[in-house]
Amino acid sequence: MATRLDLDGNPIKPMTICMIGAGGFIGSHLCEKLMAETPHTVLAVDVYNDKIKHLLDPLPQEQHGGRHPWDGRIQFHRLNIKNDSRLEGLIKMSDLTINLAAICTPADYNTRPLDTIYSNFIDALPVVKYCSENGKRLIHFSTCEVYGKTIGSFLPKDNPLRQDPNFYVLKEDASPCIFGPIEKQRWSYACAKQLIERLIYAEGAENGLEFTIVRPFNWIGPRMDFIPGIDGPSEGVPRVLACFSNNLLRGEPLKLVDGGQSQRTFVYIKDAIEAVLLMIENPNRANGQIFNVGNPNNEVTVRQLAEMMTEVYAKVSGEPPLVQPTIDVSSKEFYGEGYDDSDKRIPDMTIINKQLGWNPKTPLWDLLESTLTYQHRTYAEAIKRAIAKPIAS
Ligand code: NAD
Ligand code: UDP
Repeated sequence: MATRLDLDGNPIKPMTICMIGAGGFIGSHLCEKLMAETPHTVLAVDVYNDKIKHLLDPLPQEQHGGRHPWDGRIQFHRLNIKNDSRLEGLIKMSDLTINLAAICTPADYNTRPLDTIYSNFIDALPVVKYCSENGKRLIHFSTCEVYGKTIGSFLPKDNPLRQDPNFYVLKEDASPCIFGPIEKQRWSYACAKQLIERLIYAEGAENGLEFTIVRPFNWIGPRMDFIPGIDGPSEGVPRVLACFSNNLLRGEPLKLVDGGQSQRTFVYIKDAIEAVLLMIENPNRANGQIFNVGNPNNEVTVRQLAEMMTEVYAKVSGEPPLVQPTIDVSSKEFYGEGYDDSDKRIPDMTIINKQLGWNPKTPLWDLLESTLTYQHRTYAEAIKRAIAKPIAS
């Protein structure tokens, strides 16, 4: 492998990365990228490893003598960071820690608020402490949800200022964090993430911790979450990509929560992972920064997302679209008491552009096409079998 150079033209030394939450959606793509394109070693920490099994399991003997090109550079450590004393040792052995571990599905925020707060704040505390005490660099995954609602959402519906970007574009160093009241437990996640961001920032300011905070804006792609009843609980509610994929695979209407009027910007996981790799390999440009990572050009309402996914799925599956592709459902019915929503999420890209020269590339249609092709190939047969199975009496 040719020596890799950082953005300033300096050679990048191979490093050891302790990646916590490596078995999740983002972690699996980051492990893949690090194995395929870099010389770095990953100590992959998670309670599950299904999504990175293809990187861990030996190849059949007849392929490359049973060895991956990255053999010996990825090790899986099955541990729960809540209560495992091995964590500090793994952080000490590494040059960099990346913390992805979290409960991060909205269906949990209002129904399991305690688990959500513990997972996103309390369980992250020892990770920050061990990094700070041992002089290790930390890349911590926060969320775009720390911004909460836009300023514009509080203006009357017909106020022209709602169209002014100053009232909705989300800037790392200028926008306020606006959450709903405590009884709207939806905000338990955003609030816990905000507090851990503040703690990390304070460790940087008072104790010199070298940190980078990442705020993902709806990263989507293959391996995101689970399909209920196939590789996750039948009653589970994943994030919107997997909810809509599940509906499409089963030939049932896509459920629009409260009319599907909320707006989101979606970025392709493979574009976003490029940004993370730049952070990993350019500490001088990434340390002390908070980065929005999203695609401001891919904005849709949830209703538009449902319509586009319906169209794309018909193309990739060859099955005709449903006559009634969507149905409306109230948030109380879908998520239960205490749900609330972010109205609109457009990331300002100035900081990541200036520091790392990163820009997202993939348009929404294209990223949905590759993702739904994957969903169809991975799940369509299993869903057919599940539907055909008679229900046990
Ligand atoms: P994910 O749920 O797929 O991955 C999280 C992983 O962490 C899971 O594999 C889980 O098993 C592991 N984990 C959780 N608690 C653990 C514990 N106590 N010990 C060990 N492992 C544990 O989620 P993701 O989409 O990959 O998100 C990763 C991070 O990015 C999270 O911090 C999330 O809040 C943040 N984020 C992601 C998005 C997105 O668009 N995907 C958006 C905003 C924020
Ligand atoms: N949503 C929906 N139908 C679904 C799942 C989600 O209308 O089956 C909506 C949800 O209310 C929110 C948006 O889709 O407005 C995005 O939800 P997601 O779970 O992906 O997470 P969020 O972006 O809110 O963090």
